Amino acid sequence: MLSCPYSTWLEIDLEAIRSNIHCLQTITSRPVMAVIKANAYGHGQVEVARAAAEAGAAFLCVARIEEAAALRHGGITLPVLVTGSCLPEQIPEAVEYGISLTVHDPDLTEAYNMMARGLNQPLRVHAKLDSGMGRLGVFPEEGLPFIRQIKESKHLLLEGMFTHMARGDEPGVDTTDWQLDRFTKLVEAVEASGLRPQWVHAANSATAIYFPRARFDIIRPGIAIFGLDPSDEAPLPPGFRPALIWKARIGAIKTLPAGHGVGYNYRYISSGNERFAVVSVGYADGFRRRMNNTVLVGGRRVPVVGGVCMDQCVARINDIPEARVGDEVILLGAQGSSTITAEDLARTWETNNYEVVCGLAARVPRVYYG
Ligand SMILES: *Cc1c(COP(=O)(O)O)cnc(C)c1O
Repeated sequence: MLSCPYSTWLEIDLEAIRSNIHCLQTITSRPVMAVIKANAYGHGQVEVARAAAEAGAAFLCVARIEEAAALRHGGITLPVLVTGSCLPEQIPEAVEYGISLTVHDPDLTEAYNMMARGLNQPLRVHAKLDSGMGRLGVFPEEGLPFIRQIKESKHLLLEGMFTHMARGDEPGVDTTDWQLDRFTKLVEAVEASGLRPQWVHAANSATAIYFPRARFDIIRPGIAIFGLDPSDEAPLPPGFRPALIWKARIGAIKTLPAGHGVGYNYRYISSGNERFAVVSVGYADGFRRRMNNTVLVGGRRVPVVGGVCMDQCVARINDIPEARVGDEVILLGAQGSSTITAEDLARTWETNNYEVVCGLAARVPRVYYG
């Protein structure tokens, strides 16, 4: 389908991303705030932001103001919320680009208000409540005076209030309901005081799918947009599909005699006359330096042997006589009847699929279609 003149590259299906967002809108009957922090979980933030806008996303969400500014530089005009903390010195940038910031404590709120005073436009903010995550935010029990403080800050415009679930991807545990009870109680008190902002939000991907009461005004999914399961216990329902394929090429093929070492420190010794493909991908691309990696060659899964080097690795292809220099090798994705998923890679690397895709290096070109 695509002919890419690269050593290693990612192919990203923007139609899959649009379709996954439509799935979320259908399942939850809510607008979507697309979480595209960390370069859209490795998928490329400007391109994904455009696809999200086409799919009808109402808002974008990133972790840092640097990411939000890069979206504006890329021509993205959708509202953007920064959920991480931000220095008062960065307020002029937020106001200039019309970026919404998170306020998560009373002193910071006052500092933001003072910074915004000197500028001509108000600063848009969302109030962060810590309903049980143990990270950023004010406890719900102290939430009402906090919301009132923001409302009374002349140079701040309160657009939203939100919280985040610690265990939304474990649908069986009861702490999510406990968190939602605390947050909901505050939302009701805020409403009763006439202070309710436009956007109340609480649900990441798993929470949006598995806890209908967490959906409030808008959902805040990240991983589901990319067609990846929030966890083994909270898989995506049918209809979602992964958007990313990771490929590399065979740079050389060689046969080594019995007893010959392969690569640094000879972590593999060939037994008999064995055939190997030198593959143009390494740990500097995000292909981790582990001993149990596999890749797809000629539609079949083969072991990577020896240590993964910075820019190359070596696959044993005794059973793939048809392999040729220049052939595509799949690190993540399907070839023939075989597939390596992000979840498979996560098991191999003893991590989760989030870290797998976020770890794809900037050096690897992203190619878009769909
Ligand atoms: C990352 C993040 C999300 C998205 O989480 P997923 O599990 O990827 O859906 C939502 N909200 C906040 C505050 C986040 O940091």
